[in-house]
Amino acid sequence: MTTTMMALQKSRPGPGLWRVTAPIPEIGPDDVLIRVSKTGICGTDIHIWNWDEWAARTVPVPLITGHEFAGEIVEVGRNVTGLSVGQRCSGEGHLIGRDSRQSRAGKFHLDPATRGIGVNEQGAFAEYLRLPAFNVVPLPDTIDDEIGAILDPLGNAVHTALSFDLVGEDVLVTGAGPIGIMAAAVARHVGARHVVITDVNSDRLALATKVADVVPVNVGKEDLGAVKTRLRMREGFDVGLEMSGSQAALDQMVENLVMGGRIALLGIPPGKSPVDWSRIVFKAITIKGVYGREIFETWYKMIAMLENGLDVRPVITHRFSVDDFVQAFETMRGGGSGKVVLHWH
Ligand code: ZN
Repeated sequence: MTTTMMALQKSRPGPGLWRVTAPIPEIGPDDVLIRVSKTGICGTDIHIWNWDEWAARTVPVPLITGHEFAGEIVEVGRNVTGLSVGQRCSGEGHLIGRDSRQSRAGKFHLDPATRGIGVNEQGAFAEYLRLPAFNVVPLPDTIDDEIGAILDPLGNAVHTALSFDLVGEDVLVTGAGPIGIMAAAVARHVGARHVVITDVNSDRLALATKVADVVPVNVGKEDLGAVKTRLRMREGFDVGLEMSGSQAALDQMVENLVMGGRIALLGIPPGKSPVDWSRIVFKAITIKGVYGREIFETWYKMIAMLENGLDVRPVITHRFSVDDFVQAFETMRGGGSGKVVLHWH
């Protein structure tokens, strides 16, 4: 068997990724080795490609990047039970510690010692990936590798959307990137009444309507207040899912929420931003920060929803062979795409 593989690596500080030949990872007794078939490109990967301030501060070099993947187990460590060679899988890319109070209470997603594959540890943009068996999520036959490769961001969407009860509620999603669009689709799937999604990019809003039965609003051109009237909403939105990191979007959300409304925040504002806290207090709004996925509850829920009819495939707008990874990244960086998936074999 060959001992080397092809991978996309941040080889040195600065923009770009480099295609390298690297050793196939050696697995420990509690790990599995996964032959990667498809990977998704995340906004995080674009930060790493661009080598912005966050990336330069966070990502060690050299590092194989990437954390959204699907593949097949080709080797299992000697302590691993319940998984075998040939099992198709995706997996949780957050490697958690086991010592914190939260982790020991089973709230793995709140462990402060979490490390991310493709961000802090060797990642999935490679022919082979080492992963702790604990992190593996087997894929049922009903979920193909392409969808398997976007379960990580779908998990962000599901975690955010399921933060609050959405049954019969009017939901506002600000930001029509792939995760915002998928969150809107989840809100619709679980029984929200109106799902309104806002952005200032009409391509993204057009994509949103292809993925789910949502009301797109270009807030550069149309006022949300008018939309509320058009939809005959008496007071405002019950739940807001903030996916853009835009200050203006959060302001609009607070403005258009009902008294006692609830907001889940996944979007990350750049740096500190001014917030009108008095308005939030007087409207008695609940705000929840959302990070990653609720391991492994979110994985369970999203696979269950995919099996009972949730369809997010149209959010994948571009597919490239890994040979064309530069073009794939340029497509993502252009800002007009949905999810971009790389095919490894
Ligand atoms: Zn991601």
